[in-house]
Amino acid sequence: DVFYRELPKVELHAHLNGSVSVRTMEKLISRKPHLNVEHSMTAIGKGQRRTLDECFQVFKVIHQLVDTEEDILMVATDVIREFAADGVRYLELRSTPREGINTGLTKKRYVETVINAIQQCKNEGVDIDVRFLVAIDRRNGTEVAMETVKLAEEFLLSSDGLVVGLDLSGDPKVGHAKDLLPALHKAKNCGLKLSLHLSEVPAQQEESDLLLNLPPDRIGHGTFLHPEVGGSQSLVDKVLKNNIPLELCLTSNIKGQTVPCYSKHHFKYWYQLGHPSVICTDDKGVFCTDLSQEYQLAATTFGLSREAVWKLSQQAIDCIFAPETMKKQLKQKWTDLQHQVF
Ligand code: 5GP
Repeated sequence: DVFYRELPKVELHAHLNGSVSVRTMEKLISRKPHLNVEHSMTAIGKGQRRTLDECFQVFKVIHQLVDTEEDILMVATDVIREFAADGVRYLELRSTPREGINTGLTKKRYVETVINAIQQCKNEGVDIDVRFLVAIDRRNGTEVAMETVKLAEEFLLSSDGLVVGLDLSGDPKVGHAKDLLPALHKAKNCGLKLSLHLSEVPAQQEESDLLLNLPPDRIGHGTFLHPEVGGSQSLVDKVLKNNIPLELCLTSNIKGQTVPCYSKHHFKYWYQLGHPSVICTDDKGVFCTDLSQEYQLAATTFGLSREAVWKLSQQAIDCIFAPETMKKQLKQKWTDLQHQVF
């Protein structure tokens, strides 16, 4: 539907290596034929489902395909252009810096390369503003988390405002958030904004409670926070009291099987409370979707009018990590585009 494509959108939850399109994947596969990777190993098609564990296997394959500076630059520029072509006007990308023993890639160079991709797209005149969140993979433990925060802090000061925050992601069943708290506190104190994956799987109330006490600036998924799915009212109250926006990724949660079907997605719970809920893609490549489609799915599933959808995309502006001047610019852009979209 053309309305959803033309709708100006804000994307706040997009993992770089999960966002690689089929077209880009083809280029990567032809660069590395010796890996014998097939498309079925890097994406979950229509109607298909995987367990969350299987989803993390997919990332392993993609990481093998994306392991040089050249690969990262291509993937990041392609992903940014694709989001722009889908009508995304402001994008926060996130990615876990990796280093390579054979490739000479360092974590610092990894982040610099993503920043170069952002600048390159800006210079080409691609109609999108992009910011970057440095990601911590919780699997890698306390020390790496602290190193990652130090790296992010360096870039917070040196990237002309392009690095704005920190993400905590990776397999939610591995590691303990309490081991990462010192790093997350440090990040917060140095001015990095925090977006944390939280209650993505059941029975993590204790961990979620610890993380909510920081508090984070945004929550990724929050699938099992509310009492109806085994969370608790006290967790919900903390989210509401601190007015922490949720990043909600419908197709990702259905295909990753943490939510049984679209109509049971927790978008409904938070939206009905009037709580800031931002529709996002998570991994548009792996889950074969785009942000227009996610907005359309939310609208058809929950019976949202076009006016309600417009408001939803507009309210996402208040949840971005870039400063007030950027929010003002985006609000002006939305106003300018409104007559064109309706
Ligand atoms: P990258 O950080 O390499 O750009 O993107 C892939 C990584 O993002 C994965 O290895 C994983 O750490 C994280 N990621 C992507 N999708 C999800 C998700 O749905 N849940 C969690 N917890 N982490 C994810």
